[in-house]
Amino acid sequence: MEIIPYSRQSISDDDVAAVEMVLRSPFLTQGPVVPEFEKAVASLHHVSHAVAVCNATAALHIACLALDVGPGDNVWTVPNSFVASANCARYCGAVVNFVDIDPSSRNISVQALRTKLDFARSAGNLPKVLISVDFSGLPCDMDEIMVLAKEYDFRVISDSSHAVGAEYQGAPIGKHADVTVLSFHPVKIVTTGEGGMCLTNDAKIAGKLALLRSHGITRDPNLMGRESSGGWYYEQVSLGFNYRMPDINAALGLSQLRRLPAQFARRDTLARRYDDLLCALPLKLPKRPNDRASSHHLYVVELQDECQVSRADVFASLREHGIGVNVHYIPIHLQPHYQALGFAKGDFPASEAYYDRAITIPLFPDLTDAEQDRVCDTLAEIIK
Ligand SMILES: *Cc1c(COP(=O)(O)O)cnc(C)c1O
Repeated sequence: MEIIPYSRQSISDDDVAAVEMVLRSPFLTQGPVVPEFEKAVASLHHVSHAVAVCNATAALHIACLALDVGPGDNVWTVPNSFVASANCARYCGAVVNFVDIDPSSRNISVQALRTKLDFARSAGNLPKVLISVDFSGLPCDMDEIMVLAKEYDFRVISDSSHAVGAEYQGAPIGKHADVTVLSFHPVKIVTTGEGGMCLTNDAKIAGKLALLRSHGITRDPNLMGRESSGGWYYEQVSLGFNYRMPDINAALGLSQLRRLPAQFARRDTLARRYDDLLCALPLKLPKRPNDRASSHHLYVVELQDECQVSRADVFASLREHGIGVNVHYIPIHLQPHYQALGFAKGDFPASEAYYDRAITIPLFPDLTDAEQDRVCDTLAEIIK
């Protein structure tokens, strides 16, 4: 029996050829392909600056640093995300806190955010940065979030790791937050193997991100404090990292981008098929607001009360039937590392209630209609 994974990269002959071309070229890293890839992704998202890095976790880390997050600063994110959305602030010595989700979108609840901001204002511990997460590829309520950012004076990082190519209010995501972060991990929308990117329309932030990516080193005379002593000269003007993306990886990403419109359409078709095939079952399906277009990185169903079988049993049965389901996400505040920081079960009830019922079923561009039918038939059989 062939196992259907919950997600899988799609690699074409053109992708292989593009990578081979770099392998036979003079530059495996820091060549011409990374800037070309950055330009293509920036243009896709209608933003002026893109900084490619080795993964989205690194992108989140330098995004925090570029927004001057430091020891003792408050950074907020949501429990319903991959741990990297919170860890990036911890790397900077910041104090992490969470805002609960809206059960219908599974994204940050703007109402919960406002309430928490009011409390924080009275207590004098407003966040410096909010990291919102476009869960499953569905964009957050960015207009409302940015209004609050102005009112309460915080900056916003959009962790759009799931949402490459997604649209909000008829335009691509990327222009609302101070920094928007993308992931190119193989399970995501576009892959570079490992890879990530920061998008911004702020030239100053983009400059900081570029320095942080590469040791804080510059060869730009405008950024140097001293006269150049010759062609070899460079200066380290701040403390950065080696978070660069190799050209090999960028070539894969650039080639993948060409198929993005077709893959986006296929994901959408599959999501609509799931909506139709599963609507009669005791499941809560993803919401489809008409002012935004999800990139459908994940398709998550939630077991309803009428469902007689437990989530653990449904999950185990699906796996036994060769359906590679998963669960996204164990709320971050329930992880031992965060519990040791003082968070407890019950702190963010909407995220916890969602987690208790959620199962991610397979969705990726190469999933066939027949495979999708098998997923639905098996699921129906298990929970009937
Ligand atoms: C995948 C993911 C990340 C981390 O991405 P990497 O590229 O693997 O570092 C961060 N945030 C979210 C929401 C993710 O899904």
